[in-house]
Amino acid sequence: MSGQERIVIVGAGPAGFSAARAYREADGAAEVLMLAAEAHHPYSRPPLTKEYLRSEHGRADLFMEDPGFYAEHGIELRTQTAAAELDIARRVIHTDSGEELGFGSCVLATGSEPVRLPVPGGDHDDLITVRELEDSERLQSQAAPGAAVTVVGSGFIGCEAAASLAMRGADVSVLATAWPEYRALTAAQVRGAMKQARVIDPTHFLAAGLANDPTIAYVAAGRAA
Ligand SMILES: Cc1cc2nc3c(=O)[nH]c(=O)nc-3n(C[C@H](O)[C@H](O)[C@H](O)COP(=O)(O)OP(=O)(O)OC[C@H]3O[C@@H](n4cnc5c(N)ncnc54)[C@H](O)[C@@H]3O)c2cc1C
Repeated sequence: MSGQERIVIVGAGPAGFSAARAYREADGAAEVLMLAAEAHHPYSRPPLTKEYLRSEHGRADLFMEDPGFYAEHGIELRTQTAAAELDIARRVIHTDSGEELGFGSCVLATGSEPVRLPVPGGDHDDLITVRELEDSERLQSQAAPGAAVTVVGSGFIGCEAAASLAMRGADVSVLATAWPEYRALTAAQVRGAMKQARVIDPTHFLAAGLANDPTIAYVAAGRAA
């Protein structure tokens, strides 16, 4: 099959994976090539701050399909291969290794990136921004019982990570500049774990409000009751 008929999917997260699978399920017959910047076949990120971070699930549980799925469905998956340049006029993609790949159709499924800490020192190697499988593993290896961990960000993922780290026995602080999204933590056990985290609220305002919540208690810069 010529490159003119090939479908190239850039990005092998859930969106790229779903596009490839749906195309095959709809009996699409063109060559399908997925380019994955990461080293893994498609996996699910939500467990990275939940079951996987708490070591309740293993690596194999993260993957959307077994490694054999791709060849069985005629999907070529190239890991550690990023699209570096897209030439729409010529319908060609250049990979970061210098390869040129023709395509008939191209699906861009490159996802999104977390905001890196925009402060001096925010790019220090010791800071872990949780986005990829390895980030969660690095956090697991450092969050031993009693280890001091500070979570920056009190959105859904920050609260989830704080709760999971507390459940691992780490001594957790959460830097919160907005109302912590702990209500989105549906599992009672996980919500309860947030009680072990101290929330450091620079304005001391939010923490006072949270102290009235019947299910969870926060104090500014101190241990929750
Ligand atoms: C820690 C964490 C917890 C989360 N928890 C939840 C949750 O509980 N519930 C929920 O609904 N959502 C959650 N999310 C969000 C959810 O994971 C994303 O919405 C989902 O992963 C988006 O899928 P995607 O395929 O669009 O993008 P992504 O998962 O971001 O995948 C995009 C892929 O494209 C690759 N890529 C980027 N550029 C290139 C390139 N040039 N060449 C090749 N490949 C490239 C990237 O490396 C990446 O692997 C969580 C996310 C994280 C990080």
